[in-house]
Amino acid sequence: MKNIYLFSEGYGKDKMLLGGKGANLVEMHRIGLPIPMGVVISTEACRNYLKERQLTEELRDELKNEIKKLEEKTGKRFEGENPLLVSVRSGAPISMPGMMDTILNLGLNDKTLEMLIRKSGKEKFCYEIYIRFIEMFSEIVMGIPKEEFYEIKEKLGKDFKKIITEYKKFVLEKTGKEFPEKVEDQLFLAVEAIFKSWNNERAKIYREIHEIDHNMGTAVVIQEMVFGNFDENSGTGVAFTRNPSNGEKVVFGEYLLEAQGEDIVAGIRTPLPLDRLKEQLPKVHQEFLEIAEKLEKHYKDMQDIEFTIERGKLYILQTRNGKRSPYAGIKIAMDMLKEGVLTEKEAILKVDIKSLPQILSGNFNEKELAGKKLLGKGLPGSAGVAVGKVVLSSERVKEGESSILVRMETSPEDIKGMSLAKGIVTVKGGATSHGAVVARGMGKCCVTGCEEIVIDKSETFFTIDGVVVKEGDYISVSGYTGEIYLGKIPLDKTVLPKEFEELMELCRKYKKLGIRMNADTEVDIEIGKKFGAEGVGLCRTEHMFFQGDRIWKVREMIVSSTSEERKEALKDLLELQRGDFIDILEKMDGLPVNIRLLDPPLHEFLPKKDKDIEKLATLLGKSKKDIEDRMRAIKEENPMLGHRGCRLAVTYPEIYEMQVRAIVEAALKCKEDGKKLKLEIMIPLTQSVEEFKYVKEIIENKIEKVLNGKKLDYEIGTMIELPRACLLADEIAKESKFFSFGTNDLTQTTLGMSRDDSTKFIGDYKEKKLLEVDPFQSIDVKGVGKLVKMAVELGRKSNPTLHVGVCGEHGGDPKSIEFFNKVGLDYVSCSPYRVPIAIVAAAKSEIEANR
Ligand code: PEP
Ligand code: MG
Repeated sequence: MKNIYLFSEGYGKDKMLLGGKGANLVEMHRIGLPIPMGVVISTEACRNYLKERQLTEELRDELKNEIKKLEEKTGKRFEGENPLLVSVRSGAPISMPGMMDTILNLGLNDKTLEMLIRKSGKEKFCYEIYIRFIEMFSEIVMGIPKEEFYEIKEKLGKDFKKIITEYKKFVLEKTGKEFPEKVEDQLFLAVEAIFKSWNNERAKIYREIHEIDHNMGTAVVIQEMVFGNFDENSGTGVAFTRNPSNGEKVVFGEYLLEAQGEDIVAGIRTPLPLDRLKEQLPKVHQEFLEIAEKLEKHYKDMQDIEFTIERGKLYILQTRNGKRSPYAGIKIAMDMLKEGVLTEKEAILKVDIKSLPQILSGNFNEKELAGKKLLGKGLPGSAGVAVGKVVLSSERVKEGESSILVRMETSPEDIKGMSLAKGIVTVKGGATSHGAVVARGMGKCCVTGCEEIVIDKSETFFTIDGVVVKEGDYISVSGYTGEIYLGKIPLDKTVLPKEFEELMELCRKYKKLGIRMNADTEVDIEIGKKFGAEGVGLCRTEHMFFQGDRIWKVREMIVSSTSEERKEALKDLLELQRGDFIDILEKMDGLPVNIRLLDPPLHEFLPKKDKDIEKLATLLGKSKKDIEDRMRAIKEENPMLGHRGCRLAVTYPEIYEMQVRAIVEAALKCKEDGKKLKLEIMIPLTQSVEEFKYVKEIIENKIEKVLNGKKLDYEIGTMIELPRACLLADEIAKESKFFSFGTNDLTQTTLGMSRDDSTKFIGDYKEKKLLEVDPFQSIDVKGVGKLVKMAVELGRKSNPTLHVGVCGEHGGDPKSIEFFNKVGLDYVSCSPYRVPIAIVAAAKSEIEANR
């Protein structure tokens, strides 16, 4: 098996085998760029080393052989008259900047030092690079921190010879081992150290954060040294082919003359902007610009290039796709499309979906983050950042004040407080908990499940990580990372750039999936439409019950003991709901609107505080005890599996009757006003065709009565949120015009994991690799996905005109969208703020699927 490749032998597209750095060097050599020659040891050899824990004889022999070839190519030799010096650098398949190790100037020993001095005539330079080599090698291979050498250096000043002897003595003292003189030994030890650095702590953490496979291993690049510190016509630098922060098409970089690679990062001398090179070494500057353009065109992406100049000659040491800000990411993709470098499809694929939420809501100013106290970390419930004063009760959140609402968990009663707060933090709850769902719906930053927070009973302060945070204290919260900081962190607000609009237009052209929004209010609708939503996929009518004083009407309705009493209470709600529906239908004007009938268990709407129970009793002219008895009667142990969804209509048909009346009267009004309509009425939590038919009949009868001979087009369909409904989808589809997968409940009921409580153990499952992702965040393709696929197939078989969508939180998750596109759903529906993300995800998955 071949493990090592000379640059002229490798295949420059095989990053998995050669690592990113290695593959690009091979490729750059192939296209004729000035690259110092070298060899790449494959990632496979690294994986093998990590298994065997030693360099095998075969690998050593192969390395010796390849070095011979390198010697021939360069005309230099290890320990020869004209000594070959090399850099030994790590290079993983996915770039992990700065996480692993590098050794420069390897090949120097007391003998080659003399030869080099003789050949170059530059004694000081040769000593300097030898000293640097001993420091680097000792640190990386022998484990002595570089800083420990500095004292010796300071003491001995310019007595280079002495420094070297003292260094070597120090190494022997510290490690009990001689500093290796033989270059071959140096090389083997260096390669081993680089292999090992794959598993150093910071590399492991980096891989965790970036979800990089821990088993890939790193390649090792051994390359002939060129010296930026050779003379005044030498130097070293780094440059991006475009500005990585704002995407502007200007080469953006810095350099230092008479310096070696590390000096740029070390910050001892301030590098100069690349433009200055035009004055100092104009030819090199021009050549670099030409190469930068060539590389960008070749890789069809913005490049991050490292270069060295030795005695006025330019060498490229590395190129890779440059990291960039979210805005720069979009601008660069759109610009490259206009420049003809990328096709439309390529430009779409270039955009990193993960960066979009940031564009949509701004982020902490990176510079300001340093030095701020990180209080703790919960789950990133809803992307975005928020800065404000801590408020511990929804009622105390005031309009016009920047507040962060911190609650044990949120219930529908908190809606108002949530809508006024800048951000929401909950101690309990997961990605689809009420707090997170509502926050995403509002485009609000939310951190859930931050279990380190202990809220004091007085609801005036909480403690976290030993810090007491009082109501009124400022905190800064990131819904991207789940992090909570003490104090104010200034935001970097990025306005929606024009390139973003261009991207949206492009994606709409290539996507197949429809993108709807989950919207309950006029405000939602306006935002969703602005972002390009093509309909309402879910209007949760219960959310409307929490606006203004309506909750009291709902409460009256719930505590009614007879159908008559209930109908009376429903009358007022009818007026209110009709008004809401008119607003929504008018605004959507012909785009599909899917309105779901009441879903949650009724007792969720009941008052909890004594004073509210008393108020309800007064309103109804009943005793407090009457109300409490009624509350006790409807209280459930397991409400999520209890009296909710269409089961409510089986017991209290008058509730759904009121709702459909409101919908139909609203629709008729809109029709009269000349608006177009595409109306869908949705029954939640169906588990059998018998149940669906029963409820459908109730509402159809009511609708016919309300219409009283008038004509109105509408469809009645169901949510699919229970495994039984998936299994019997063919039966249900005969009666239902459409399916909408409620994947929040479907995940809960398929896995038997509560969507509100699972955060307590999901983390352990992920850590122990029992679950790859939180199934409430990204669809469990294997299980829940199988049910979805089956239900779509069964449903369409028995009802070919059935249309199918998804309205669970997964409808806004890119990975899940890819799956929904694959199984042929007609649309996904998500929070208005996620619509642009869904549009891009839908386009990407369609393009990928056809590649
Ligand atoms: C669902 O269960 O996926 C759904 C959309 O309904 P809700 O979240 O309102 O229960
Ligand atoms: Mg549901």
